[in-house]
Amino acid sequence: DAEIPEDHPRHDSLVTRHRIEDGVEMGITSQQGLIAQGRGEAFDYLLGERTIPSADDAERAAAAALLAAEHPVLSVNGNVAALVPGELVTLAEATGADLEVNLFNRTAERMQAIADHLREHGAEEVKGLAADAQIPGLSHERAKVDRDGIYEADTVLVPLEDGDRAEALGEMDKTEIVIDLNPLSRSAQVATIPVVDNAVRAVPGITEHARELADADEATLREIVDEFDADAALAAAEDAIRDGDLD
Ligand code: ATP
Ligand code: MG
Repeated sequence: DAEIPEDHPRHDSLVTRHRIEDGVEMGITSQQGLIAQGRGEAFDYLLGERTIPSADDAERAAAAALLAAEHPVLSVNGNVAALVPGELVTLAEATGADLEVNLFNRTAERMQAIADHLREHGAEEVKGLAADAQIPGLSHERAKVDRDGIYEADTVLVPLEDGDRAEALGEMDKTEIVIDLNPLSRSAQVATIPVVDNAVRAVPGITEHARELADADEATLREIVDEFDADAALAAAEDAIRDGDLD
């Protein structure tokens, strides 16, 4: 990161890109992950590389949902493991959630590399390696999850999830929080709480809200979740992209 000047106009974006490159080199991020990153960058550019107000509201609702949940799980793929490993561990601690490695292109090596990487960033328990249950409606490899993790969770945070899997998870009657920069992607559209923001900002953003809400009672948390309007949030993000002032 050191070689990118602090005053470079694309500083944050370039740092993020380097982290993904490093992730590929470390065997954490897949080559498809690079393509996903490129798509994400394009949408982030159009959003002005900032957390728009409706995304901040979504991050607050996401924090409330995780805190109110009986069994919350944060799903971790190769992109977020490379981008925000420590921040995911911190969010798990702040909300009492489990961390579960869950890959679209699952290989034993990458599963292990990501679990190790999370542990190096302070995670104690990392789920996903048992793979003793399946999300209904998906082909075998893509369906694998841990029974005592994502399968039984009542609330799941899925950053940059594939549209198909986001849909299958949504059909399992869970509260599904999706972080995705594209408000038109199926993943964002099927989410209970779509967070249209870069995972680099969204994960710490949700943690910050979780800390503010740490003492709130369950009724207050449920009210925050119930008041959140997913369609309005998606529409606000699309408006920001269409009408945004870019400098
Ligand atoms: P579908 O419509 O089925 O959901 P998709 O277009 O989302 O398909 P992918 O390209 O696999 O399919 O998904 C990558 C998604 O992840 C894109 O929507 C992209 O905007 C988003 N994305 C990439 N990097 C980030 C990031 N750092 N933070 C948030 N979202 C990201
Ligand atoms: Mg998607």
